[in-house]
Order: sequence, then structure tokens, then C-alpha cells
Amino acid sequence: MDQQTSTLAPPDAPRRFGFFVDGHEMSAGSRAPMLRHSPAHGVPVTEIPQCDPADLDAAVAAARGAFTDRRWAGLSGGERASVLLRTGALIRARVDEIAYWETLESGKPISQARGEVSGCAEMFEFAAGLARSLHGDTFNNLGDAMVGLVTREPVGVVGIITPWNFPFLILSERVPYVLASGNSIVVKPSEFTSATTLMMAEILTEAGLPDGVFNVITGTGPTMGQALADHQDVDMLSFTGSTRTGRAVVAAAGASNFKKLSLELGGKNPQIVFADADLEDAADGVAFGIGFNGGQCCVSGSRLIVERSVAEDFAARVSAKMAKIVVGDPLDAATQIGAITTDAQNRTILDYIAKGTEAGATLVCGGHALDQGAGQFIAPTLFTGVRADMAIAREEIFGPVLALMPFDTGDEAIAMANDTRYGLAASVWTKNIDKALAVTRRVRAGRFWVNTTLAGGPELPIGGFQQSGWGREAGIYGVEEYTQIKSTHIALGKRDPWIA
Ligand code: NDP
Repeated sequence: MDQQTSTLAPPDAPRRFGFFVDGHEMSAGSRAPMLRHSPAHGVPVTEIPQCDPADLDAAVAAARGAFTDRRWAGLSGGERASVLLRTGALIRARVDEIAYWETLESGKPISQARGEVSGCAEMFEFAAGLARSLHGDTFNNLGDAMVGLVTREPVGVVGIITPWNFPFLILSERVPYVLASGNSIVVKPSEFTSATTLMMAEILTEAGLPDGVFNVITGTGPTMGQALADHQDVDMLSFTGSTRTGRAVVAAAGASNFKKLSLELGGKNPQIVFADADLEDAADGVAFGIGFNGGQCCVSGSRLIVERSVAEDFAARVSAKMAKIVVGDPLDAATQIGAITTDAQNRTILDYIAKGTEAGATLVCGGHALDQGAGQFIAPTLFTGVRADMAIAREEIFGPVLALMPFDTGDEAIAMANDTRYGLAASVWTKNIDKALAVTRRVRAGRFWVNTTLAGGPELPIGGFQQSGWGREAGIYGVEEYTQIKSTHIALGKRDPWIA
């Protein structure tokens, strides 16, 4: 079937998956099944086993064995690059299939899912180059009797816990970079969106990744996720999700083996719009920044901070854009916002909308669920008259809900942008380069966009300041994050004796 042109529909029966250990798909056996319903269509689409602690032990043992015997870490960067390049090619060949299952489980629009999956192929291709170029340092200034080497080594067994908002993309922002230096991996995807992570396992194996280097354990967060964070034989953990669960992961790492952590957590990201911006362009960007993926992005631009002289005009422009966004069946190629991914998230968003209204903010557009016959959909929503102490201005909503607050001076805009415990991302819209640079220097955020938003790619690192996380993913920074540094002093010639 040509999925680009045909009308897609959910499958007649849910597709069954196993989990993945030591290069093989493991059948569910007597493990309890987790039935995932499409949040857009209300029908069951996948069935995934709920693993148990023994399955996790087996996966970690496979990863440890593969690391210890150096079947991957001992290869040259060039050999690892070949596997990563083949993986990129195999992902490209299966874009439509991966995007279809991603859409069914997550509710995201199929056209967006296809774009994301293609972007994932690029990450593997980019990381292939990094596998070859990763290197250390030499100190040739220690005198004639000594030379010093600084080498980078893989950390070992890396656990990865991914959330449900970008299952394949967030995985691909980590896996190729983690693999580039020679680590082994055990992934625990979200129970709601595990299918495409299991497809990744198939693809990596087909690409020639040695058995045991990539393993997938399925199950719920509080069981399998927590067990991975607690595990004594996992050297490092990459966690992406809420700041609340991030705290539990930090506690687990401290209470177990002090595993190294990389955390990408929540955000309440500002969009600062100056009066001298191209307002039409900015309004489109701001609507995209909160509408993309239904606002379920850690980097969604959810706080709109607008210069007072244009605030009313700008609110009208954004609301006109929002009214035109196509919300509906994510399997329809024309859809721009699909379903809200989980029931709990749907309730959370509607609760925040109610809180905004109760607190006295003015609802300019949206603010309600949309009835599409089946599934859970929310109209893109804009509030004005928002005070900085309101929940909709302070807390991560993770939905298509935008809170507008006006400012009078650049200093005030910067202070408002920094009035948050988070620091993941920020955008600034102005045609004045001085203003743009002042804002990018002074606002605390790990990712910045000037006159655009949500731009990304494999080259630039991602990660947050403050309570938005620790460490960086992607780019050369993302490879280095998953290495540790070793210093070696090499004596040349005969040592000066200590004992005469
Ligand atoms: P969580 O932080 O609970 O989930 C993220 C990941 O962590 C999932 O894989 C989840 O598994 C897993 N997990 C859950 N509990 C534990 C645990 N005790 N130990 C280890 N792993 C665990 O997010 P929620 O799904 O509950 O969403 C709540 C809020 O989190 C959202 O409203 C949003 O604000 C934020 N969020 C932020 C994301 C981001 O990209 N930064 C992504 C997702 C959510 P499982 O799904 O199987 O339970």
C-alpha cells in the first residue's frame, strides 16, 4: 500500500509485539499484555508484554556481556559508523511503516510522524561521522620523560527511559550518539508508545549491530522504569520526562550505584515578541510553537511575552492563526494537530484550562474539547490577561494552551522570561539584532530560537538549565556525554628511583 496517497485506517486487530533481549525478539509468553488503544480512534492497535524484573536482569546481563567482551566497544569508529549508516538507510526505507505505528500509538499527525522519522535517519548518519572523529588529547609538555594521554571511553551499560510524546525521535536523539563511542543499551519506552522502539531493535539488528548491544524492556514506568533506575549494573541513565519523575530517578541513582545521569525534563518556555518583529511571521511561529504535537513537547513555547504596544493586535493575529489549524484524525495527511496522547494528559490539559478561567484569565480562543466522533482532541487555546502567579503561567501544561502576558521594557521581558524554575528553551522575535542578542544572553535556557521556533537537527545539542535537566544530548556533545575521560601518564626511559 502506498501510505503517502492512500487513506489510512487503524488495523483490524492489534499488532502483537514481544520485547527484545540479546539480539532476539522475546515472545510475550505468560506475561500480562498491555493493550494500547489509539487515542484518536479509540480502538486497540498494539499489544505489548509487561516485562518482569527477571527480564530486566536478562537485558542488563546481555548488555553487560556485550560491553565486557568488546564486541562493539572494541570495533574501530569506522566499523561502528558503517552500522550507524546502514541503520539510517533502513529507517529511511521504513519511514511510512514506522510513522504509521507512531501515529496510531501517539495520536500525532501522520505527516508530522513521517517528517520526524526521516529526521531520525539523519541523526544516525550524523552520529556515524562522530563515531569516526571522536578523539582525546595529548599532553606533550610534561618534559622529556613523560607524555600524557587523555582518552575517551564509553561509559558502559546505558539505560534509556523515553516518554510518549516523541517515542522514535527522542530515542533517535540518544541511541546513535550513545552507540557511537561503543556503549551498550537497555531501553524502557513509555508503556503507551513502545512499538517503534521495538522496530528500532529490529532495524539495528538488521544493520549489523552485534547481539546484546541494544535491548528493549517493556512495561510501566513505576515498575520497569523504576527498576532500570534502581539497577546496580547500569552505569548511566538517560531519562526524558517530567521533572517529578526525574526527581525519583535522581534519588534512585543515588540510592543504588551512583549511576551517571542525563535528564531532559519539563519546560515552561517563553516566546518573547518585541513590537519591531515581523508580527505576521511571529504569530505564525508562535501558533506553531504551541500547536505542534498538540503542545506536548518539552520545548513548546507556552508563555507568550509580548510588548504591550502590540499585545492586543498580536493576540488577534495568533488567535486568527489558531482558528485555522486543522485538528482531527491524525491518519489524515492534512491534519496539523492530532489527538492528545494519553487520557491522563487530556484531563490535565482540560483542568488547566478550567484553572485559567477560574483565576480570571480571558479566554480568547479554544478552551474546549473537540468532538471528532472518537478520540480525545482539544482546540488550540489562547488566554490573555494572565498574571505571573497563575498556574497557567507557571506550570507545564503540555497541551495546546498559550498564556499571554504583556511587557513594557526589554529588562522586564527578560525578568518575566526568567521567572520560572525551568530553563529548557526560549524564542525571541525582533528585527533588532541588539535586542535579540541581549535576550539570548540573559534568558536562562538550554535552547534558543531567534525569529523562529522549534528548529532542530542532529548538529546542535539539546538540554536544559535549572530544573529542566542535566547534560546534553545530540551533536558531538551528545556523544561526549556518554563517555568518560581517562588520563594516562606514560613515563619515557628510566624512572627517577624513589628508594636510593
Ligand atoms: P513521566 O515523567 O511519568 O513519564 C516519562 C517516562 O518515565 C515514561 O517512560 C514513564 O513510563 C517513565 N516513568 C514513570 N514513572 C517512572 C519511575 N518511577 N521511574 C522511572 N521511570 C518512570 O510523565 P507522565 O507520562 O506521567 O506525564 C506527566 C507530565 O510529564 C506531562 O504532563 C508533562 O508535563 C511531563 N512530560 C514531559 C516530557 C518531556 O519530554 N520532557 C515527556 C512526557 C511528559 P510510562 O509511560 O510507561 O509510565
